[in-house]
Amino acid sequence: MSTTVTPGGPVAEIAQRLRGGFRGALVVAGDPDFHEQRAVWNGSIDRRPGLVARCAGTDDVVAAMRASAGYDVPIAVRGGGHSFPGHSVCDDGLVVDLRPMHRIRVDPEARIARVQAGALIGELDRATQAAGLAVPAGIVTHTGVAGLTLGGGIGWLMRSLGLTIDQLLGVELVTAGGDVVHADEAENAELFWGVRGGAGNFGIVTEFAFRLNPVGPVVLAGPVFWPMEQSPDVLRFYRDWIAEAPDELMTIVIHRRAPALPFVPPELHGRHVVAVVCCWAGALDEGERVLRPLRSFGSPVLDLCEPKPYVDHQSMFDPSYPHGWWYYMRACDVGGLSDAVIDTTVEHAQRIRSPRTAFPIWQRGGAAARVDDDATAFHGRDAGFTFNITAATDSEEGFAEEREWVRDFWSALQPHHTSVYVNFLMEEGPERIRAAYGAAKFERLQALKRRYDPDNRFRLNQNIAPA
Ligand SMILES: Cc1cc2nc3c(=O)[nH]c(=O)nc-3n(C[C@H](O)[C@H](O)[C@H](O)COP(=O)(O)OP(=O)(O)OC[C@H]3O[C@@H](n4cnc5c(N)ncnc54)[C@H](O)[C@@H]3O)c2cc1C
Repeated sequence: MSTTVTPGGPVAEIAQRLRGGFRGALVVAGDPDFHEQRAVWNGSIDRRPGLVARCAGTDDVVAAMRASAGYDVPIAVRGGGHSFPGHSVCDDGLVVDLRPMHRIRVDPEARIARVQAGALIGELDRATQAAGLAVPAGIVTHTGVAGLTLGGGIGWLMRSLGLTIDQLLGVELVTAGGDVVHADEAENAELFWGVRGGAGNFGIVTEFAFRLNPVGPVVLAGPVFWPMEQSPDVLRFYRDWIAEAPDELMTIVIHRRAPALPFVPPELHGRHVVAVVCCWAGALDEGERVLRPLRSFGSPVLDLCEPKPYVDHQSMFDPSYPHGWWYYMRACDVGGLSDAVIDTTVEHAQRIRSPRTAFPIWQRGGAAARVDDDATAFHGRDAGFTFNITAATDSEEGFAEEREWVRDFWSALQPHHTSVYVNFLMEEGPERIRAAYGAAKFERLQALKRRYDPDNRFRLNQNIAPA
């Protein structure tokens, strides 16, 4: 355990209180791994916490909350560190780092996975697929299970199995006061309702229990690319083609400049392209039949859709969103891909400058849309599509221009906005957070916040203030 704590100040006092009984590591400025431990996925976030408490188990999380009680210091809770606005790190305060807690226990007979809150999506996929099972989760494997689940969780399996929270059976959570509680449909049911979409506002979840379902292990999946000039026709065809798509099919449309990756022919590198990325999680011959019209539409320049292990498809986007690049994102849901939405999309996509920028449009609907909207805190199950307008640059160079592109594009879509997914919010202010839940749910969440975190100790998140 590191012990070089800067003398003086409340955070140093907290570190002092923790020393002795804390099983994990206490990391402070000056320690050799301080910079590694404070870095988050988004390279544009540069914050220096007073103390990173790397928790080895629930007892360490309890200790951190108790030791910091009575101090008015910012508390950041860190799962995978993929919060776009950098909510899992703070200046001067305490980071409760859950990364060392990433044990996953799979019970194939009972079809339940017990997942500690520091686990990453890729770890969950590998552990569950070893038994031919899966939890519907996100599409980049280095994202944290915790933050993703607490916001809802959309991904390749959401049209067949629902959101990540739709397979959540229960949680263990440490409250603001340092108590350990369980929440599921039978015990603390209102808390369980709020945890499923409430974005970490009510406590630190230390363990998730998920229901498992058979998936793959082979799926028919991958991208089909066209030159971006064909995007107006491709998107109109796509809109009609997926209107009656079976739940086994999930698609994401990507506009970008073709990456210089080994599987992309060199003549395409840097060219503006549109891709429809598919994941068919059903019988393969049926998938070949369903996907045929898309793959033969127009003149695709590259078709990488093929049978492959589900875990391989899950990591397909990993190289497009690595740690450390500078990212900015604005998001919205729209009801459908009307001609006006398509025209706005194509107009802005053509202006992408950075070779790192790749923005997804997510197909929604299917099983996730059939769950009663009031069943969980997550809002916006009836969305038609989710625009996740993400820009990326290697470093600060060119970042401001690309960020402006995101804002312009998002504003141009404003007449079509319906809901917004809480995990795709930046620092956009209380009104946008309220909009992410709708007024009625927001008030219900505020009541829960008053009960579980009346002093708003957990405020580095998409915050539901108690008052
Ligand atoms: C590259 C990338 C890909 C993504 N893909 C998807 C996707 O496919 N589907 C999708 O739905 N979302 C996706 N997202 C959004 C993602 O769900 C959110 O960014 C999510 O918050 C990340 O969780 P994390 O644990 O990695 O992040 P962190 O930054 O560690 O945490 C995010 C927020 O949750 C809080 N939190 C974390 N752990 C806990 C806990 N155990 N208890 C209480 N609060 C906690 C943090 O304090 C913070 O406010 C993606 C994000 C990125 C950057």
